[in-house]
Amino acid sequence: MQALVVIDMLNDFVTGVIANPRSERIIPPLAAALGRARARRDDWLVVYANDAHLPRDFELAVWGEHAMAGSTGAAIIPQLAALPGDFILPKRTYSCFYDTGLEPLLRQFGVDTVVLTGQHSNMCVRHTAADAFFRGYQIVVPEDGVEAFSDEDQASGLAYLRQVYKAETPKLEDLL
Ligand code: ZN
Repeated sequence: MQALVVIDMLNDFVTGVIANPRSERIIPPLAAALGRARARRDDWLVVYANDAHLPRDFELAVWGEHAMAGSTGAAIIPQLAALPGDFILPKRTYSCFYDTGLEPLLRQFGVDTVVLTGQHSNMCVRHTAADAFFRGYQIVVPEDGVEAFSDEDQASGLAYLRQVYKAETPKLEDLL
């Protein structure tokens, strides 16, 4: 059982206050992969892990206000909108495992492999991969399903994930 985890593909992260134009590249392959995962729900759990910040969250000192809970900026981009049967977990810092309930959700569905997608390869994806590794999950980070703010961040982010967490980095269409 695998979980397709979509991280921070939110308005603020794509076109809003911390916009990353590079993230547009991963939208079509992610949309297609989501469709295929939803067609195989016996094998795939679809999980969105979304920043939903509250005032004074520690991370705001680094990035300024972004994806504040309940705001339009904190909404999933329309091209990747969640559908019934998907799970949406709000988070307040980088790792999708930190105080989100992701771990019991994965356990309930018998997930052994997490496929991490979204943003950013060298930040939230990386911290989530660390927490997944500590818990014994197999880690897959599709190279066409994640982005960062620069070529260098993307390349070094993926290299780190391969080296430190033994992450596989296939293309999405070769995965599902
Ligand atoms: Zn944040």
